[in-house]
Amino acid sequence: MSYQYWDPEFETMPRGELAALQLQKLKETVSYALRTAFYKERLAKAGITGPGDIKSLADLRRIPYTTKQDLREGFPYGFLSVPREEVVRLHASSGTTGIPTTIYFSKKDIALWTGNVARCIYGTGCNKTDVFQNMITYGLFTGGLGFHAGGEEVGMLVIPSGPGNTARQFRLMQDFGTTVVHATPSFLLHVEARMREEGVKRESIKLRKAFAGAEPYSEDTRKRIEELLRIDVYNSYGLSEMNGPGVAFECQAKNGLHLWEDRYIGEIINPDTLEPVEDGEAGELVLTCLCREATPILRYRTRDLSGFYTEACPCGRTHRRLRRITGRTDDMLIINGVNVFPSQIEEVVMAMKEVGNNYLMVVEKEGVLDRLTVKVEVGKNIFMDDTRPLNALREKIRQTIQASITISPRVELHEGGSLPVSEGKAKRVIDNRPRDI
Ligand code: AMP
Ligand code: ZN
Repeated sequence: MSYQYWDPEFETMPRGELAALQLQKLKETVSYALRTAFYKERLAKAGITGPGDIKSLADLRRIPYTTKQDLREGFPYGFLSVPREEVVRLHASSGTTGIPTTIYFSKKDIALWTGNVARCIYGTGCNKTDVFQNMITYGLFTGGLGFHAGGEEVGMLVIPSGPGNTARQFRLMQDFGTTVVHATPSFLLHVEARMREEGVKRESIKLRKAFAGAEPYSEDTRKRIEELLRIDVYNSYGLSEMNGPGVAFECQAKNGLHLWEDRYIGEIINPDTLEPVEDGEAGELVLTCLCREATPILRYRTRDLSGFYTEACPCGRTHRRLRRITGRTDDMLIINGVNVFPSQIEEVVMAMKEVGNNYLMVVEKEGVLDRLTVKVEVGKNIFMDDTRPLNALREKIRQTIQASITISPRVELHEGGSLPVSEGKAKRVIDNRPRDI
């Protein structure tokens, strides 16, 4: 197989040079970080008051970790390190308390990010002859605009379809000859199922590749999508705190995701001891962003479980490869690609006076998609012959939850005292989705 590189100089850079580049960029990033009150204080405690205090990459370990909680506490502008006027875009991801974590981009940041995504896309063999249908959410979520810009940078014809409405997705594919799509793996499976149901002939679409990410999936799921749709599927990993997509991506060798080490520093730590694991071992991924001036984030605890492959990749890229992300070290659920913390639902449900003390969230597969059911207890007197107040309450709860987490749950009302009460720590989440990872 012949491999194509978007940034050949950087993608195949010898590891020694890569390390020197990382050190230089780490110093730059630290000098931006020191402009924020948060890092000024944090880094001072670690004896770092200027970029000159970072003398080697080993000094990275002197920097304390940054957590999602830190970012939330800094909301809205606490992590901004350039004048507001230099910021041209923000993105945000959902959080436990409803306070999003917000990332700001300067023009330069957007250009670098776009380059990262272009590098990923091009590395899968795409070029300007391709038609790219971006079937993922646009808006505050980084996946939509991030891939959109990266696709344009490569020169592909980009169709900003967004997710949903499979009938329209098929029409777009047929009308414009879509060759590549981007979606969550669950949406790809859904698309395939709908294709069969709606009698869309495989020959009527030209699809040959898909980028799938935003949620964990197994190698078996990848194979299943590849076989059913007769396409190549590439794993795409990113998170808003590190710009969004374009952090790590599979090349055509499909044996792990190259972490772009000229743009990020990756470490794997033991989430309990917070110490680095042995080379190649599994643990929590910690990332430092080297390609953003407006919101520098150092040693971010991603909570994602992964590890590095130690052997070289046949594609010739020198950047280390991450293993497929297998899960998280916190309680965040990913439901149809959307991040949901159980506490977000708790907050909404417990704020409603009609709702009793007990509630339960159940996540399961319905066909290929995830389905969230929220079971809540309500007073006895509401269960009367007239079902109208019940229906109205159910709808009110559904809408309030949807407004908070963007997903529409199924809501079940139960008589007070009828939901199971656990003896010890309350078990509020039942995840019945088959774990195939
Ligand atoms: P967000 O900040 O909303 O983009 O969400 C980022 C999170 O989505 C990551 O921290 C992961 O938990 C998850 N995620 C993104 N891409 C993948 C992937 N390819 N495999 C597994 N999880 C992913
Ligand atoms: Zn490779």
